[in-house]
Amino acid sequence: MNKIPFLFAVLLWLAGCQSKPETVAKSDIQGIDSSIKPENNFFMYVNRIWYDTAQIPPSQSGVGAYMFMNFPQRLRLQGILDSVSKANNTAGSIEQKLGDFYASGMDTTTINQRSFDPIKPLLTRIDSISNLTSLMKFVATEARLNNTSFLAFGVGPDNKNSKLNIAHIYQTGIGLPERDYYFRTDAPSVAIQQAYKLYLARLFQLTGSDSATASKDAGIVYNIDKQLAGSHRTNIELRDVNANYNKMSVTTLEKKQPNIGWQHVLNDLGAKTDSIDVAQPSYYDKLNTALKSIPISEWKIYLKAYTISNYADELSQPFVDASFELNKVITGQAVQKTRGEKMASSVDRQLGWALGQLYVKKYFTEDAKKRVLDLVNNLQKALAARVDKLDWMSDSTKQKAKEKLFAITKKIGYPDKWRDYSNVVIVKDKYFENVVSASSNNYLFQLAKLNKPVDRSEWLTTPSTVTAYNNPNANEIVFPAAILQPPYFDNNADDALNYGGIGMVIGHEITHTFDDQGAQFDKDGNVKNWWTKDDYAKFKAKTQNVIDLYNTFVVLDTVHVKGAMTVGENAADVGGVSIAYDAFKLTKEGQDSTKIGGYTPDQRFFISVARIWRVKMKNEFLRLWINNNPHSPPMWRVNGPLMNNPHFYDAFNVKQGDSMYLPEEKRIHIW
Ligand SMILES: [Zn+2]
Repeated sequence: MNKIPFLFAVLLWLAGCQSKPETVAKSDIQGIDSSIKPENNFFMYVNRIWYDTAQIPPSQSGVGAYMFMNFPQRLRLQGILDSVSKANNTAGSIEQKLGDFYASGMDTTTINQRSFDPIKPLLTRIDSISNLTSLMKFVATEARLNNTSFLAFGVGPDNKNSKLNIAHIYQTGIGLPERDYYFRTDAPSVAIQQAYKLYLARLFQLTGSDSATASKDAGIVYNIDKQLAGSHRTNIELRDVNANYNKMSVTTLEKKQPNIGWQHVLNDLGAKTDSIDVAQPSYYDKLNTALKSIPISEWKIYLKAYTISNYADELSQPFVDASFELNKVITGQAVQKTRGEKMASSVDRQLGWALGQLYVKKYFTEDAKKRVLDLVNNLQKALAARVDKLDWMSDSTKQKAKEKLFAITKKIGYPDKWRDYSNVVIVKDKYFENVVSASSNNYLFQLAKLNKPVDRSEWLTTPSTVTAYNNPNANEIVFPAAILQPPYFDNNADDALNYGGIGMVIGHEITHTFDDQGAQFDKDGNVKNWWTKDDYAKFKAKTQNVIDLYNTFVVLDTVHVKGAMTVGENAADVGGVSIAYDAFKLTKEGQDSTKIGGYTPDQRFFISVARIWRVKMKNEFLRLWINNNPHSPPMWRVNGPLMNNPHFYDAFNVKQGDSMYLPEEKRIHIW
């Protein structure tokens, strides 16, 4: 059911609002609210006027200028798809596949006529399940088509031998965003539990159950979910890289969890392997006992719920509406998005590399790539200089840190080779089958990598996604084409704005190399200790300071930032701004003090930092964010790092007694 990846892919949208995309011309800094003192709340000083006037459209859960929530970006993708779906394309070309996939999703007449016909064969197969063997067979074979339930299987690098791809299994099997949703008793959480049960009952009713049976069955599914959720690790426990690595032989696993029948499961998954990394063993131990303690008749009800839910958005309007009613309670989004907006996201999920290819052709320039590479190189040098000056780290660890820093692979724009979609069959009037065909192709693409060397040229997000990432298994940082645009980057803007914008993002990604998780990987991407014992203890104490500080930030009523869940991102924000600032000081403008548009170069740098995280969200969405997102909410992505940055204190004259002031001994200084 995996509602959460869906929510984050689709709903974490955001944007320079519904108007024109934001541009940052050389002297253009507007909208500063001088009634707010920068030293008291810098985020609001820069963003308040925007914040008070920005309207969250009813079909969205937030607006702003933040990464993967970029609304204008989604309109660009939709524009590409609108035009390609109307063109005359060669059969089998990526244009034909993209255009026909989109058109099939826009054809709601056919989709509504088919109601839930496309999944009837699946429901019949569930009816015929008679024992554990046939139950597991259904689960494993359907996992290959992304109709997932209580089994999450994937292929990826071995954390201790990062050049080789191995099989991994993860905790899963729940429909709410994460385990704590089943155990919290506060009013917003109880409302979500209720909405989820109503949603499950509605799915059963839509496929033929009377209302009493539907409610009873919803209760059964919820109970199974809750039992499985009890064995899940928390978001915080999932950050411990070593605890979440448990490679074992299939023979051992088979003995440990005999009810699952791992050898059969792996055969049905098409996975030839004699070992597997069981990321969260307690979940599969629980599943093993639950498969016996819960009657098969109840598991069949559970599988029906997951199957209908997994495909709800591909079926007729009543299913789509049911799915939306649940999302509404979780995210606060008032009305559904347009069909075009939803279908652009669907194509992006299913054929994202083909769409990315057309996006790059239309929107990306090689100039941007060159200038950003210069920035990345400058940031890398700036961090090396900071490492040299650290007073808490020994010379031998410094040497290793710098080796790791200069071994980082930089990927900018788009990959050298594109994903092949030649096996995906796309037909104009079969939306459901198109989704299944693309899912199957994605699965086979992953499966083909099992026990093969890692292809280090591969990218993990598409070039049209407004994001950046650090992949510790490859010791690489990646900046897709879509983030190389305003407000992050503008080839016409001055260095202060670009270093405070994309420079801060680059600094953030470089710092991940050395955050609470990144620090556990060596320069080749293996989980291996490269620290002296003493240095690592000091590092841990410093990351604890980050946790303690961010725990004090109250976001919504009594809800505060989860310091331990967000520590990696917060450390990257604090380090990112410092490194970007140092690199900026190496530029001509950074050396100067001439004001532009009324602000010094340093002030412009910090204003740019505050502008890139400009965002306004519905309270429901903010609550979801605080519970699940490893990043702090936007205001704290600005005020948090700046409270710890001495140059910010100088630029805006922050003094004791100001809200942004922290005594020097309390300020975070890791890198
Ligand atoms: Zn990050």
